[in-house]
Amino acid sequence: MEKQTIQPFLTVANYHLLEQQMNKIILTLATTKDKDVILAVHGIVDSEITAKLALSTEEAELIEQLFDVTNRAQGDAYSEQLKLYVIPFKAVTASTIKSLFKKEKKLKLPKLEEMDFHEICYLAWDDPGTHRKYVVLEQDEKLKSIKGTFSNDTIRGICAICNRHSDVGLFTTSVKGQIVGTFTNYSNYICADSQTCNRHVTDIEKTQAFFERITQ
Ligand SMILES: [Zn+2]
Repeated sequence: MEKQTIQPFLTVANYHLLEQQMNKIILTLATTKDKDVILAVHGIVDSEITAKLALSTEEAELIEQLFDVTNRAQGDAYSEQLKLYVIPFKAVTASTIKSLFKKEKKLKLPKLEEMDFHEICYLAWDDPGTHRKYVVLEQDEKLKSIKGTFSNDTIRGICAICNRHSDVGLFTTSVKGQIVGTFTNYSNYICADSQTCNRHVTDIEKTQAFFERITQ
């Protein structure tokens, strides 16, 4: 019965949006038995999903199962099932990364084998020795690389990438100016933990717009 006929159709950000909405339902069920409240939350979740995802009938049937989830264990099982329909982050290898950061003399590579490419919409890793943070993301089907420094002093604040309240630190990028020898620096607070940040991204366009802004 569990034959997969639907092709992957969810972006990683879509997947995280669905997880976030499902968590909303689980949390509601854990805190109230009031049917009206539960129905209202279902309504909100439904409109959030409809606003962001254009679904075929078959895809919609799959997504609607989200409303049958009543507890964490079922939620985890549903998440696992949904993952089969996620379009993963573009496959990158160590040599892809080396060619993206050609000018970096002592580039520290990310632990790619530890990354779940179905869970990330941008790839980021740190070099604690040099305080560098490296980012790779897909834009117009091409991979874009960004390099910056990341301060170790983290505070509680809003992340410029995922827009969530979290432990953030200052990420500074430097872009060549119009006049030779000049630079423009951009400093923004972003999540210290990029894996957590990825899980909070539910709108990839906002994330892309942020990276666009700091590289121009
Ligand atoms: Zn974040």
